[in-house]
Amino acid sequence: MSASYANLELFIDGKWITGNGRGGEDVINPATAKPLARLPHASHADLDQALEAAKKGLAIWRAASAYDRAKIMRKAADLIRERYDAISKILVQEQGKVYAEARAEVITSADIIEWYAEEGRRAYGRIVPGRGKGVRQIVVQEPVGVVAAFTPWNFPTLTPARKIGGALAAGCSLILKASEETPGACVEMVRCFADAGLPAGVLNLVFGVPATISEHLIAKDDVRKISFTGSIPVGKHLAQLAAKGMKRATMELGGHSPVVVFADADPEKSAETIAAFKYRNAGQVCISPTRFYVQEPVYSRFLARFTEYAKSLKLGDGLEKGITMGPMANARRIDTMEGFVNDAKERGGKIATGGSRRGNQGYFFEPTVITDVPDDSKIMTQEPFGPIAPVVAFKTFDEVVERANSLPYGLAAYAFTGSAQTANLIGDALQSGMVGVNSIAISTPETPFGGIKESGYGSEGGIEGLSAYLNTKFISQA
Ligand code: NAD
Repeated sequence: MSASYANLELFIDGKWITGNGRGGEDVINPATAKPLARLPHASHADLDQALEAAKKGLAIWRAASAYDRAKIMRKAADLIRERYDAISKILVQEQGKVYAEARAEVITSADIIEWYAEEGRRAYGRIVPGRGKGVRQIVVQEPVGVVAAFTPWNFPTLTPARKIGGALAAGCSLILKASEETPGACVEMVRCFADAGLPAGVLNLVFGVPATISEHLIAKDDVRKISFTGSIPVGKHLAQLAAKGMKRATMELGGHSPVVVFADADPEKSAETIAAFKYRNAGQVCISPTRFYVQEPVYSRFLARFTEYAKSLKLGDGLEKGITMGPMANARRIDTMEGFVNDAKERGGKIATGGSRRGNQGYFFEPTVITDVPDDSKIMTQEPFGPIAPVVAFKTFDEVVERANSLPYGLAAYAFTGSAQTANLIGDALQSGMVGVNSIAISTPETPFGGIKESGYGSEGGIEGLSAYLNTKFISQA
């Protein structure tokens, strides 16, 4: 499959801005470790211009009717669908995931925008009965204001789509700093909004040194809402910056998702379902299943089928036919994977398959299964964000719940059981923002997506994802 890459530009006040004297960085193809293009960085003056544009954009956009806002958003979603093939190929080149996954991501991004376009028309208020005669007590929803959003490299269009969709549907304007490592697909998605007729200033896209941009923007009084997806340490830092200005914030951070397979589940079917989900995007997904607890009677059968699946994956460039797992997104991840494997081995872990870097070109790491690792090993306590699956055994319901809930994270959790009663009990017992019981479908445009504990706060998706960009105002009228 041949493909061209994106034209990398900043988008400020409705204008596309090229490098022209600005600093920048190279974007690397993780399948080859070779540069794809040069990405311009926004200067401080660019950021201030983006903020002025977003203030102007907010005034225009919040005054537009929800009906008209929805028309433009739906048009943008249609353009994303029309251009899905080119955008997906750009996404594969910069991020590494296989084409089929990239295509699903781009199409889902359009679905998210469209869903928010519709939901923005239902940002209802209400009338609360008053105590006095003729009194009207009115509750209205208003856009929170200018939003600063920061998105990572693992879902270059889907994560920005959630933030753009929620903010625009609520009538907010937005300055988005997408990932410098995977900018192209997001640039092309933003181009769809520009081409759909979004007024200048409503959506601005910048790149640069992440800490410099976030500190600059979050400190500005006019930025009233922060939305971040990424690692827990960065999330805590940005939450502190937001707290200084008492700004609303949504934090979608990392996790370490337990999978509990009970003896009354079908071990082979569960293994196939969850293994396919595990190795999606080479495991670089915040809701990726990452700790596998299997009840003793079915442990060997589950492990055998899971390992067989891992061995069957075909590593390579995601644009090539027949490839089922791409490279890791950057060189940092390879080093981290090696650290997990070495620690597991030192603690008595056994490698059922994989365990090493593959080849000497690009950032490929083998689909890996590790057994016999203690609960306090690195792989059982730190988010792997890669293609490593530790599979261990458990005896009782209470024991596994305690082990599953023992970490400070709480983003996603999964369980497989043939019993309706166990399904109810485990769904209630797992400390997690999202739980899939006999299901991995925990991320759709219309359902809330978010974590608890150190995995963050607030939801993206569902009506909760729209509320995240709305202020509630009460008007009492006598
Ligand atoms: P990192 O913590 O350096 O960066 C994570 C993301 O945050 C990147 O996109 C980065 O550009 C951005 N970022 C970093 N510092 C920032 C700042 N001061 N202001 C604004 N944005 C900032 O880590 P990394 O090496 O890119 O990824 C490592 C870990 O991050 C992974 O192990 C995983 O736990 C986590 N991560 C989570 C998600 C997610 O979907 N929740 C996505 C990517 C990475």
